[in-house]
Amino acid sequence: MLVPFFDMKAELAAVRADVDAAIARVLDSGAFIGGPEVTEFERDLAAYTGATHALGVSSGTDALHVLAMALEIRPGDEIVTTPFTFFATAGAFARMGARIVFADVDPCTLCLDPHAALAACTSRTRAIVTVNLFGRLADLPQNAPCAIIEDAAQSIGSGPPRGLAATLSFFPTKNLGACGDAGAVLTGDSVLADRIALLRSHGARPKYQHLSIGGNFRLDAIHAAVLRAKLRYLDEWIAIRRRHAQRYRELLADASVPDLRVLPDAPHHVYNQFVVLTPRRDVLRGYLAAKGIGSEVYYPEPLHMQPCFAELGYKTGAMPRAEAACAEALALPISPSLGRLAQDRVVDAVVDCLKCK
Ligand SMILES: *Cc1c(COP(=O)(O)O)cnc(C)c1O
Repeated sequence: MLVPFFDMKAELAAVRADVDAAIARVLDSGAFIGGPEVTEFERDLAAYTGATHALGVSSGTDALHVLAMALEIRPGDEIVTTPFTFFATAGAFARMGARIVFADVDPCTLCLDPHAALAACTSRTRAIVTVNLFGRLADLPQNAPCAIIEDAAQSIGSGPPRGLAATLSFFPTKNLGACGDAGAVLTGDSVLADRIALLRSHGARPKYQHLSIGGNFRLDAIHAAVLRAKLRYLDEWIAIRRRHAQRYRELLADASVPDLRVLPDAPHHVYNQFVVLTPRRDVLRGYLAAKGIGSEVYYPEPLHMQPCFAELGYKTGAMPRAEAACAEALALPISPSLGRLAQDRVVDAVVDCLKCK
């Protein structure tokens, strides 16, 4: 029995009729850019997340980028963030000319350490960008001298934005996935929301009068319709993910596996990923692969060591906790379609591998 890391066809099969109907509705309407599907999805998303404003955009990356544009991030501005995340968290701000200042992660949660983040702030810091990694709400810095932004690409369903804004991704493997690229910005700030609405469509208001230099960061109607249909199932899917995580935790604890650490649970954790840490990570990943069990490494290389950030001058050892996480973290299958027997197979294989040296 093969256990895929993520079974796209099985995930889609569960809602296929709803998705087909949503796509057909858009095709029949002939309205592919903007229109009621987009505004209705934004309204549903705001209601679901508890955000005052929800703005659909073209991807999670573009959500961060258009937010950076709306905040008028300029060369010389500093952004403090975590090196243990997907590239876009830092890349979206670096593209605006910001200097990225990395601060190390909390060893317990692997999210940005709020104390390290505060210590990295200077008078030039415009924002601390924290990441709700793997679906867990990161602890926020208290009394920060700048804006707090949450990269919530992996944590939809864990509540409203806690800082100035939060960005979402609807990449197909996120907890709410589109049939393509899509994203959103959530904020309680009406002025910021209005700027994002302007910038995502070439800064035009009205049409052909360009108040600002924006871009095309719009959410397509077809994605909005699919997302709206799937949003109705999201709470159920999150509940299943949480049950899977709980079961992994119990089974792995009962087996008392040597050299294995499981990241701790948290109240609003939505488990986009279930991650374990072991110094024998690569051996374990190979062992699982040989048994037909999928796993993934998030993330193999910390951002401060990426070639494109070489000019920032970070050396190996600069962010020891993030570097250790990159060497030891392994994500196990946790999607809603994962069956009980499949999960047992994963646990058995992890135990077998780590119990024999
Ligand atoms: C997925 C992800 C993104 C980027 O989202 P896309 O929709 O793929 O552009 C950004 N940040 C984090 C933490 C992510 O997991």
